[in-house]
Amino acid sequence: MTSSTADNSSSIDEARERYRIEREKRLRPEGMAQFNELKGDYADFDIDPYVEPGFAREAIVEETDAVIVGGGFAGMLTAINLTKQGVRNFRMVEKAGDFGGTWYWNRYPGCMCDVESYTYMPMLEETGYMPTEKYASAPEIFAYAQQLGRHFDLYPHALFQTEIDTAEWDEPAGRWLVTTTRGDKLSSKFFVTAGGILHKAKLPGIPGINDFAGRAFHTSRWDFSYTGGSSREPMENLRNKRVGIIGTGATAVQAVPRLAETAQELFVFQRTPSAVGVRNNGPTDVDWWNSLEPGWQAERIRNFTQAVTGTKPDRDLVDDGWTSVMWENTQRVPESPTEAERLEAADFATMEALRQRVDQIIDDPQTADNLKAWYGKHCKRVCFHDEYLPSFNAANVHLVDTNGQGVEQITAAGVVVDGVEYELDLLIFASGFEVTTDLDQRLGFDPRGRNGVALSERWHDGAHTLHGVLSAEFPNMMMISLVQAGFGTNFLHFLSKSAEHTAWLIAECQKRDIATIEATPEAEEEWLGVLYSVAAGVGEYSATCTPGYYNSEQNYSDKAARNLVYVGSLLDYAAYLERWRDDGTFAGTRTTKIKGSGTLSA
Ligand code: NDP
Repeated sequence: MTSSTADNSSSIDEARERYRIEREKRLRPEGMAQFNELKGDYADFDIDPYVEPGFAREAIVEETDAVIVGGGFAGMLTAINLTKQGVRNFRMVEKAGDFGGTWYWNRYPGCMCDVESYTYMPMLEETGYMPTEKYASAPEIFAYAQQLGRHFDLYPHALFQTEIDTAEWDEPAGRWLVTTTRGDKLSSKFFVTAGGILHKAKLPGIPGINDFAGRAFHTSRWDFSYTGGSSREPMENLRNKRVGIIGTGATAVQAVPRLAETAQELFVFQRTPSAVGVRNNGPTDVDWWNSLEPGWQAERIRNFTQAVTGTKPDRDLVDDGWTSVMWENTQRVPESPTEAERLEAADFATMEALRQRVDQIIDDPQTADNLKAWYGKHCKRVCFHDEYLPSFNAANVHLVDTNGQGVEQITAAGVVVDGVEYELDLLIFASGFEVTTDLDQRLGFDPRGRNGVALSERWHDGAHTLHGVLSAEFPNMMMISLVQAGFGTNFLHFLSKSAEHTAWLIAECQKRDIATIEATPEAEEEWLGVLYSVAAGVGEYSATCTPGYYNSEQNYSDKAARNLVYVGSLLDYAAYLERWRDDGTFAGTRTTKIKGSGTLSA
């Protein structure tokens, strides 16, 4: 193996050892339990700052074909697909004040999509919308979600600022009875949970969070009335403020440069650094846009997913940081020791280049050292940004590295790390979202299926699904979530495929006079077998990673093992769904016909 050189580069052996040390430093026995939900003592953190208080409306009592929970892209695309298939009698229930999901909530300055807009923003060919930049900013994507809502006439279906209270399967009626926090009573044949992937904000369980006397909020509940400015305009009110931000994941990487612009002092509290590659954003080339042939977007989406899941396409259409970092899947099971060595070397080379980038940009050697990511490229979401690292050269920006331990305590005056108190006026939590917690916890309600059995009860040992979509004992309930379903760099690719599948299922049941559909327990176990077999190789790689939401904070229980995603290529997951639909027999499900004509398949 190579030895380290005088120019700060390291060898694979050194890196392997450093990865181990950094990982062990961060392992916490409490795993996911180290975080707090935004409820109870922390409920104030969950208040929607983007709506006027005091909203009220008449409760609705109605029968409908489908209730869709969620007005983000998953819910919207399900609704759009339903509309296209002639199912127009549905309701969309959404906690927020508008469509947009993650783009409704995340308005923090600097927020943008790190996946190219031409592959991320859905249905561009149908709406004719041209994104203004290669990487679109949050306000543009939010506005586009609203445009989709208008274009496909979804607004009349929406119940905003409304949350599900209860959802219960009524066996004699063969319908879901759904009640909401606005007093609505909806009786629906189908129930679609498209409640979000990274929507449920979490707070670190740092002692004293509620003691802080200054202003504090999570990045997904940005208080512009305090900071001044807007998603696009400088936060003028921060010019005389000491600001702290906890977390250095993808969100902080985007927010820090904007905070650094105006904050009097900015303290960035870091537990684990992100690897940050080149962004290279720019305006859309109108000539190129006009030259695109019909069908270009589906091809581009597919090409991108192929490029980032380890089977490099002949032509890399997107050709950006993602495709250059992720084109080789280095966590796959090697076929020989030689291949294992080659994969490790390739992964190392990619991460080492990202570490070297830090040295090239950061002036202070200690700060540079602290900003280097010591883990493999599949361990945490790699970030791409051109202003994040340079921010740390500014005199008002201070990196407070916690040596993997995290912030110790929060006091009335500020934040304590290693016995030092940093006094602050504003404390921002860029502490992320729940991803691998139980689905009912993330949905915020616990659906009750046949015989009143709650999802949390039937899934007490983890998820049971067919394709992550259908579950036994929960007739006519379709889930869109990562649990036992696909996953990919471009979330919209996954959501589009799930939404398409869900809408197809509903429309097809309607066409075939099917009264109920649910997975069989046997098919659920078979699907679990598929998930496990695909995950087999990844486990070994994942065990070398620092903790994070990709690996349930390195806290593996049997339950967490069942709640896994399909870790293979999203293209393969999508192909499963497509083959299943093409087969047309509803394999692995139990269905009953309208008018009691009996079971179709089991
Ligand atoms: P993450 O979960 O990625 O980051 C949370 C951060 O908080 C981590 O740096 C974490 O450190 C830190 N943290 C947690 N607890 C403590 C503590 N006690 N003390 C100090 N630090 C702590 O959340 P993000 O919101 O950054 O990103 C979540 C995901 O959202 C991304 O991975 C991405 O999928 C998505 N996203 C997508 C964007 C896009 O452009 N498409 C943009 C932004 C987000 P540690 O790593 O040690 O746990």
